Amino acid sequence: IATVGILALQGAFAEHQTILQRLSIKRRVIVVLVRTAEDLAKCDALIIPGGESTTMAILARSAGLLEPLREFLRTKVVWGTCAGAILLSTSVENAKKGGQELLGGISVKIARNGWGSQVESFEAALEVEGLRDSSRPYTGVFIRAPVVLELTPSPLDPPIEIIARLSPQCLPRSHDLPQADIAAGSDPRTIVALRQGHHLLTTFHPELTDDNRFHEYFIQQCVLPSLA
Ligand code: GLN
Repeated sequence: IATVGILALQGAFAEHQTILQRLSIKRRVIVVLVRTAEDLAKCDALIIPGGESTTMAILARSAGLLEPLREFLRTKVVWGTCAGAILLSTSVENAKKGGQELLGGISVKIARNGWGSQVESFEAALEVEGLRDSSRPYTGVFIRAPVVLELTPSPLDPPIEIIARLSPQCLPRSHDLPQADIAAGSDPRTIVALRQGHHLLTTFHPELTDDNRFHEYFIQQCVLPSLA
C-alpha cells in the first residue's frame, strides 16, 4: 500500500483526490491532503497540482513546507502537473515580478505561460507510451501551460525519459516554433510529459479530465516500483 499525498495549498488538489479515489487500484493507495510538514512526513509519494505556481510557492514557504518538500524530492516520488511542473523544474523563465521559488527535482528549464497570453488554453490528443490502452489517445488539457525549453541533466543525474509530445497538428495556434524543428520532432518545446528517475512532470492537467489512465500510470509505474 502506498500513501500518496496531494499538496493542498492552492489549485486543483480536490480533482486529483477524486481521480485517485476512483482508480481500480485504489485499495493500494491511501490519499493524504498535504498542508503541513507533518502531513508530508506520512507520504511515500506526492502530487503537486495545477494552479498558480507563484502563489503555491509563497503558501508553501509560509506553511514551512519549502525545505521539507525539497528534502522529500531527494528520496521520494513526486508528480507535478502544470503549476506543479513549474515547481519541479530547476530553472524558470517568465517568472512573475518578485521571482519564483522552485523546488527543483527535475533537470529542465521551463517557461511559465510559455504558449503566450493569447492562447490561454487548448486541448490536444496525446499519444502516451506506457499508458493502458495506449492506442487510444489521451486528451491533454493545457491552461496557461508551461513549456519545456531545455533538458539540463548533468551526467550524474538520472536520464530524462520523454513520455509524450504534442504532435504538429495539435500545437496551439500561438506557437512560433520553426517548421523544421517541428518536422524533426525533436524540439524540447513539444515535450509535454517526461520522467526523470521516479519523478513525473506533465505540463497539462490530467486532474481535469475523467480519464484515469495517467493517475494509474503514476501509481503503477512510478510510485509502487519506488516502494518495491
Ligand atoms: N500559469 C500557471 C502558473 O504559472 C500554471 C497554470 C496552471 O496550472 N493551469 O503557475
